[in-house]
Amino acid sequence: MEKMKTEVEVVKLPITNELGFYEIRMESIGGFGANLAGKVLGEAGILLMGYNGSNFSSYGSEKKGSPVRSFVRFCEPDVQVRSNSPVTEPHMLVIFHEGMVGINPVTQGVSPQSIVVIATSKSPAEARDYLKLQGGTIHCVDGIKIAVEEKTRVNTALLGAMCKASGFINPDAIKETISLNLGKKYAFLIDANLKTFDRGYAEGVSEHFEDDGKYPFVPFKRKGQNLGYLNQTIGGALTTPANTIHKDLSASRMGWIPVLNLSKCTSCGECDITCPDYCFVWDNGVDKKGKEVRVLRSIHYKHCKGCLKCVEICKFDALESRKEYEVDPKILEDGFSE
Ligand code: SF4
Ligand code: SF4
Repeated sequence: MEKMKTEVEVVKLPITNELGFYEIRMESIGGFGANLAGKVLGEAGILLMGYNGSNFSSYGSEKKGSPVRSFVRFCEPDVQVRSNSPVTEPHMLVIFHEGMVGINPVTQGVSPQSIVVIATSKSPAEARDYLKLQGGTIHCVDGIKIAVEEKTRVNTALLGAMCKASGFINPDAIKETISLNLGKKYAFLIDANLKTFDRGYAEGVSEHFEDDGKYPFVPFKRKGQNLGYLNQTIGGALTTPANTIHKDLSASRMGWIPVLNLSKCTSCGECDITCPDYCFVWDNGVDKKGKEVRVLRSIHYKHCKGCLKCVEICKFDALESRKEYEVDPKILEDGFSE
């Protein structure tokens, strides 16, 4: 990596825990760039901002769509880093997609001293109720909309929002580290990512909420394994395959969705064969001659991860890719447009 140019005045950490750390936890879905955001933040803090610290991520199968957590710890230079456990009571929690809430217990350990940065179009008050937070500072930024408009990812928009909300993370240090990480290989992405960062910094809105008794504190709980050597299914078979009624993939979408126009659909079935997640809902119907046939009725958006393969395959223009935040919520509810 090239030598860094930015020289930043060291700012005292605003708050630390009993071990001397300011701790950040990022809750994300594979593909949104949380791992890279943690790396950039860690590098900037340690190499440019004068802190000691660490960063690591935890993820399952490393595939797009699975939960990812990235952790960053900062401490003053004379404090030794002797902790490598996940952050359970974050000073800053970052939520990369509001659709994750309810699927995963993302807000565990957040207290009225915490800052919560969330990618959402909601206001901080709406987000507080949505997250059911005891209290804290809530910083909302419509990161997915920014990323769609700038043709980037939500991670750089959230890095901008984190700088703004934290009051101590230096934006110039982060921007330099973003540029160095993209390097010569991805130099063509640098301008768009720096613009995404600037918009994430400028467009966020914060509000602080005291503990008013509205919602309780939710402590961090380590999730145990449901299956072990005593109750494993035969052959280790998974009993919750990807597309059951329980599986919600909404949080995997990066701002784009397919919209089904039923008036153009011939029920040819090509989209159904192409879709990796069996999102298409079929029913019995009759064709023009009165013959009984299977008819496509809707898209079940809960299972849709927004890959848009169905849009590519449809020869009848019955599927159109649209920006999710611009689509009428009724279409998302019904699964089709007329
Ligand atoms: S591929 Fe297009 S026309 Fe065929 S069933 Fe799907 S949406 Fe309808
Ligand atoms: S975008 Fe289309 S192909 Fe992809 S998951 Fe959604 S419905 Fe299926």
